Amino acid sequence: MPALRKPLLAIILLLCYHSSYCWGFYAHKQINYYAVFLLPPEMQVLYKPSVNFLSAHAVDPDKRRYAVAAEGARHYIDLDRYAGAAKAMPQKWDSAIAKFSADTLNAHGIVPWWIQTMMQRLTAAFKEKNQSKILRLSAEIGHYIADAHVPLHTSSNHNGQLTGQTGIHGFWESRLPELLAEKEWDFFIGKADYIQNPASYIWKRVYESAAEADTVLRFEKKLSAQFGSDQRFSFEERNGVLVRQYAAAYARAYNNMLQGMVERRMRQSIYSVASFWYSAWVNAGQPDLKNLSGKTFTEEEVKEFEELDIHWKQHAGNLHDHD
Ligand SMILES: [Zn+2]
Repeated sequence: MPALRKPLLAIILLLCYHSSYCWGFYAHKQINYYAVFLLPPEMQVLYKPSVNFLSAHAVDPDKRRYAVAAEGARHYIDLDRYAGAAKAMPQKWDSAIAKFSADTLNAHGIVPWWIQTMMQRLTAAFKEKNQSKILRLSAEIGHYIADAHVPLHTSSNHNGQLTGQTGIHGFWESRLPELLAEKEWDFFIGKADYIQNPASYIWKRVYESAAEADTVLRFEKKLSAQFGSDQRFSFEERNGVLVRQYAAAYARAYNNMLQGMVERRMRQSIYSVASFWYSAWVNAGQPDLKNLSGKTFTEEEVKEFEELDIHWKQHAGNLHDHD
């Protein structure tokens, strides 16, 4: 019934647009994609032929949020909830639990600790020489690392909902990259480096994000006073459907005001993802990636991928909290 299908599609797309995702699906896929090219040749033998998998599955953790309740907290940390204590958070999970309790930590988000858990799992997968585990965990740790680079993932005002700026989350991390990344931003970055201390490294990135959250919000507030609401939004056609979104001129003005912040954080994300992958491989004793077992995904894994997709398609649009 084509006559019915089209309006339904329009509604779905509108819902997808209004709910924002971490870094947006587009940026997450790009970040994992570009990270592959920072790796040494010994790793590229595995990662390059798998680049499409790593890119496509960069968004699995977001899809999993519809199916697994514990998933949400892994994508952010509301540092402002800790008030004065935010400046000196325990870097390790055990000491954080001792200080604040697991309930409190889970309520305010756990991204910097979850990345450390994922790093241990990825290192173990390299030691096991299990190809499908290495690829899945690489794709997924890439997601969480990238999220830790997003300023609004460190603030309880994550979508500007407390300051009359609802929608700013997707504006910063989806609209700007989708508009500018391909044509105007540069992702030629060099090479991955060995990270001596993953915990302190990722905490540094989180504190950088937190330091920028205020600018992200304040600048948009200022800019919105210069643009009428009819100039801030526009309807643009996407796949034959009209979608309301932040106007291109408004997005460009915001990007100029931020002086390249989104591009900088995206570049830093790519470098960090590649460096975590590389460090896990080094810590596992640099196994020969031409000679791995577990090359094909098990039936169970394939089923899980499919179910993630199904859950996501059923629920897309209902997610508004801490995307
Ligand atoms: Zn996320």
